[in-house]
Amino acid sequence: MRIAVLSGAGISAESGVPTFRDDKTGLWAKYDPYELSSTDGWQSHPERVWAWYLWRHHLVERVQPNDGHRAVAAWQDYADVTVITQNVDNLHERAGSTTVHHLHGSLFEFWCDTCGSRFHGPLPDMPEPELEKMPPQCDICGGLIRPGIVWFGEQLPDEPWQAAVEAAATADVLVVVGTSAVVYPAAGLPEVALAQGVIVVEVNPEQTPLSGTATLSIRESASTALPRLLPQLPELLAN
Ligand code: NAD
Ligand code: ZN
Repeated sequence: MRIAVLSGAGISAESGVPTFRDDKTGLWAKYDPYELSSTDGWQSHPERVWAWYLWRHHLVERVQPNDGHRAVAAWQDYADVTVITQNVDNLHERAGSTTVHHLHGSLFEFWCDTCGSRFHGPLPDMPEPELEKMPPQCDICGGLIRPGIVWFGEQLPDEPWQAAVEAAATADVLVVVGTSAVVYPAAGLPEVALAQGVIVVEVNPEQTPLSGTATLSIRESASTALPRLLPQLPELLAN
């Protein structure tokens, strides 16, 4: 059996990584989230954007994968599993998933915004959140080191996107978990799957634009629903 998983911020919420919607409290509440995650924001305030991502990098290092991430990793014992994630954390990998495509980049990759060279650290520590911190400079050209995140105004990287389309179109089941299913192009993957006759299972405590068209919509949290999902799949596939 081939299982593709499309995950979003909701699967990591139970590990303590806030979703964008929940992240309005705290230190960064006064900033426009667009400014912290766009090329415009980076150009006008790199010290704010760098502080925000450095803090999130360290925050993610301190949290643990939850039963949702672990269930997806455990499916590898029974199926060919491809994870497609909009998340920039590394919780799927830390739970043990071996094939993970990051559509929106990663908090664990950094490169020079001028010459594109990879930056291998060391990264400054940030034990407490700071609102501003100047990014390190590139050893080669002196450019600013930026987080390897796909910002608003940037194209999705080609390789993970192609792999995601292929996985969604050729799976037996696509499990869509913890995503509001409104951010395109990732939100188009369930449509690709449905058009190919792939069974689409949604896991989300809230209704989303996908709930009406999904083969099955499970209105539960990721850590509750995912560990119970595998035994239900043969019956879904048979129908
Ligand atoms: P989103 O914030 O738009 O939607 C989160 C969805 O998760 C909601 O539909 C919500 O109902 C659902 N949800 C909340 N708790 C859940 C749970 N316990 N189990 C299952 N579902 C739950 O997130 P998105 O669709 O991923 O899109 C937002 C963008 O923000 C993405 O591009 C992503 O890159 C970025 N982001 C990433 C992280 C991360 O890496 N952990 C965190 C925040 C935002
Ligand atoms: Zn450089």
